[in-house]
Amino acid sequence: MTERFTGSFTQQESLPEEAIDAALAVLRHGRLHRYNVAPGELGETALLEQEFAEMTGAKFCLAVASGGYAMATALRAVGVAPGDTVLSNAFTLAPVPGAIASVGAVPVFVGVTEDLTIDLYDLEAKAGQAKVLLLSHMRGHICDMDRLMAICDAAGVTVIEDCAHTMGAAWNGVPSGRHGAIGCYSCQTYKHVNSGEGGLLVTDDEELAARAVMLSGSYMLYERHLAAPGPEVFERVKYVTPNISGRMDNLRAAILRPQLRALETQVERWNERYHLLEEGVRGTPGLTVVERPDAERYVGSSIQFLLLDWPAEAVQEALRRCAARGVEMKWFGAPEPVAFTSRYDSWRYAPIERMPASDRVLAGILDMRVPLTFSLEDCALIARIIRAEVGAVWQSLPD
Ligand SMILES: *Cc1c(COP(=O)(O)O)cnc(C)c1O
Repeated sequence: MTERFTGSFTQQESLPEEAIDAALAVLRHGRLHRYNVAPGELGETALLEQEFAEMTGAKFCLAVASGGYAMATALRAVGVAPGDTVLSNAFTLAPVPGAIASVGAVPVFVGVTEDLTIDLYDLEAKAGQAKVLLLSHMRGHICDMDRLMAICDAAGVTVIEDCAHTMGAAWNGVPSGRHGAIGCYSCQTYKHVNSGEGGLLVTDDEELAARAVMLSGSYMLYERHLAAPGPEVFERVKYVTPNISGRMDNLRAAILRPQLRALETQVERWNERYHLLEEGVRGTPGLTVVERPDAERYVGSSIQFLLLDWPAEAVQEALRRCAARGVEMKWFGAPEPVAFTSRYDSWRYAPIERMPASDRVLAGILDMRVPLTFSLEDCALIARIIRAEVGAVWQSLPD
């Protein structure tokens, strides 16, 4: 009998009861706007910021409407202006070049290695072309951050980190988002905490923090923040920083706070599933597992494999056969962007220079979500299906 997987790749877990209770409390009192607090009350959004700052060891934190908004705000806060160039990853998701375009700046794409991290040689070569790097830890793969920071520091490049897939991850013990000037996170349903939409931004720089708060639309209510710099810092920026509203609200913050407290447990659960999948497909002929360095503490909320140098039709055949058995994978090599997958040549508003080595990697990337609704047995089954189908297509290829 042919085994089939019948679970859903897009179904996340329901929210913890504690989050549901917290949401109901906010709905009952009706003070959803973050600055609408009763006398003496500390709002959910301000508390979330305080707790996330503590969790990441950052001095300052700001909660906003989305991960994309956090990145655009970070770019504005560091002073990126229309016409400026911003370095970023060739392997990332559309909101990253989109954040750059949203401030009128122009992305300069840096290549991707077989480790699925930014190509540090290419970065070194292009570092002179921009003052800012928007670094995407795409699908949770973290490059050698010590080397990256050395390259950027030497070239005077400010680093903003896109940690949409690395909340809870670390490099050499330093939480992801804490190497560069600003770390940006997403709280969208498919990330590591789920408020539907939402974003967080952390920094140790008081002026960047004050600008970000003003940018997010704090009016002159910045004193209601618990993880922001003192009023003297706001005095320096408050008349010259535009209000581009994108605040988080108390309802979202209320459901995020219990999820942050549970993050460590969730990370362990993701990684148990990731390890089963990884071990299950390791050794499949024609398939390359993306090995993770010891210095990287990752969150296995998705998994990628490489079918390097396969003919496109064979990759499609493998995908089709896996899908027929209920295993949905996404392919970054498809000529047209599909659902969440796209690559540097999909964003036609940005000029590109072809990168053949990166094209080879992108053409081989298979990507799969690992929602926590999957049981460990599900993961073992999925791995057996991938092993069988990818292996069968590989065997059928001429040498
Ligand atoms: C999801 C995501 C973001 C931010 O997305 P929002 O939907 O705006 O919260 C940023 N970068 C990457 C790589 C992402 O996957």
